[in-house]
Amino acid sequence: MSSTSDPTPTYDVVVIGAGFAGIYLVHKLRDELGLDVKVFERGAGIGGTWYWNRYPGARCDLESDAYSLSFNDEIEQEWDWTERYASQPEILRYINFVADKLDVRGNIELNSTVTRAVFDEDTDTWTVSCDTGASAKARYLMTATGILSVPSMPTFEGMETFEGRIYHTGDWPHEGVDFAGKRVAVIGTGSSGIQSIPVIAEQAAQLTVFQRTATFTVPAANRPVTENERNATKRSYKQLREQMRRSQVGVLLDAGIGNFADVDLRVARGELERRWRGAGMSTAMVLSDNLRSIEANEFTSQFVRDKIHEIVDDPAVARMLEPHDYPIGTKRLPIDTNYYDTFNREHVRLVSIRDTPITRFSPAGIVVGDTEYEFDAIVLATGFDASTGALDRIHIEGIDGRIMREQWRDGAESYLGLASPGFPNLFTVTGPGSPAILTNVIGSIEHHVEWIAEYIAYLRAEGITRTEATTEATEAWTAHVAELASMTLYPRAASWYMGANIPGKPRVFLAYIGGLHNYRDRCERIAADGYLGFAHADRARIPAGSAAAAAGS
Ligand code: NAP
Repeated sequence: MSSTSDPTPTYDVVVIGAGFAGIYLVHKLRDELGLDVKVFERGAGIGGTWYWNRYPGARCDLESDAYSLSFNDEIEQEWDWTERYASQPEILRYINFVADKLDVRGNIELNSTVTRAVFDEDTDTWTVSCDTGASAKARYLMTATGILSVPSMPTFEGMETFEGRIYHTGDWPHEGVDFAGKRVAVIGTGSSGIQSIPVIAEQAAQLTVFQRTATFTVPAANRPVTENERNATKRSYKQLREQMRRSQVGVLLDAGIGNFADVDLRVARGELERRWRGAGMSTAMVLSDNLRSIEANEFTSQFVRDKIHEIVDDPAVARMLEPHDYPIGTKRLPIDTNYYDTFNREHVRLVSIRDTPITRFSPAGIVVGDTEYEFDAIVLATGFDASTGALDRIHIEGIDGRIMREQWRDGAESYLGLASPGFPNLFTVTGPGSPAILTNVIGSIEHHVEWIAEYIAYLRAEGITRTEATTEATEAWTAHVAELASMTLYPRAASWYMGANIPGKPRVFLAYIGGLHNYRDRCERIAADGYLGFAHADRARIPAGSAAAAAGS
């Protein structure tokens, strides 16, 4: 940290958020580039998503050896995952272990929500302000605010009159919640609902699930990792990680067996059966064109619907659980433990709010049409204002008074998901237009952090003090992202990928679909070409003695 006559502390880099991305940024920029890095974190602890999402049953939908950091051998070899799909408490312990290993806590200021970030065009620096009154200046600002970090709170009439407790899965009480003997409602059947419903059903006296859209889910087949498996993984991490980096989604999934029109459908059905028993997300990838051909997709979708009827005893309930509103895989496919089975339990009931939505909350519970359901507690598993949500909540002011949320009012536009015109020296890790949300997000985070760090080293070596994505490159990238999405079935789902879960949010596909491997190649070529698509300016414009000059180049 350095300071001039201006009392605001000055750093090389300010980072917003101390999840995986924020922690890795500190390590990379501080320990490898020697930069002075300050992180502001909203939570009272580190961990981001895994700090807030403590709802019962929360666990990762990717296998633990994939959903973990790859850049440090010691961390890889010392940490022992205990389950095939790690639970939230285990992942949070892992993040804390990583933070201690890398010794990053001293760079992180907790309980600090960044409210403003304003770029000074004369000095090429950002000034960041927090709700605590703290502020900081830096040449570079990096948002590591996460993709699913702003819970979407529905506004039902009469919510404030409900006399029981209301919880959101994405902002769960840290002391936990005891549902024993309670009448509980869950609204929402996305991944969070699907994971929490079976666990809440174990505890509650009565559980009512309010379902607007029936969701496809496949069995997790979660289990403990054996010592032998763990050792074998540790021995082969190097090769595994390299394969993951060069893969479409940053994780090794079973490949498709061919296109719908070309395969023997009996063979495809047999493969679906095999994958249903524990292949997780690759269950929906038996047919290679599952996300491009509606016939292929319908074949896979019907397989899951048939499974629901095999599992669920009451045919009327099974029919309600049958998903028909979107092609399988066009919303992130949850993996579950006993989700459909839970509806066979006597004390669990399913209420469809598809045709008759929730009318209002009452002091006693929830009213749907003419029926009042009484509860002691209501769980909102209603999702997130994804991707842009966290950025929209900060007043980010770039050049010429441009405000990021206003610039993105008709849809987020970003170059590579990493930078936006009008906002120089600002990098958005896993921003809209990056592949992150369709990949193993840790793989995307590692790529982004490493690429940004290399770019910062280049800028410093060249004496460049200001970099900004050009409008042309940004428009071209945004059009490319949209074009790729339009070639798939993804836009047919009213998903958070499309911003469709938030009333009024523009419907723009928020991710690059071309795969992590192609994205990596593209970014490498851009760097090799002198960071094509970025406009540069140098320090000659900056007056000596300014905060920026003090911060160095
Ligand atoms: P989500 O997928 O957006 O699901 C939200 C659910 O709430 C949907 O069923 C939605 O119905 C319903 N809902 C929202 N507003 C409603 C309203 N006003 N009235 C009635 N129902 C309403 O959110 P999520 O389950 O939290 O999952 C979001 C993402 O987080 C996932 O896709 C996944 O990427 C990630 N996640 C991952 C894991 C994991 O790794 N295992 C676990 C949890 C979450 P509609 O579908 O009709 O809108």
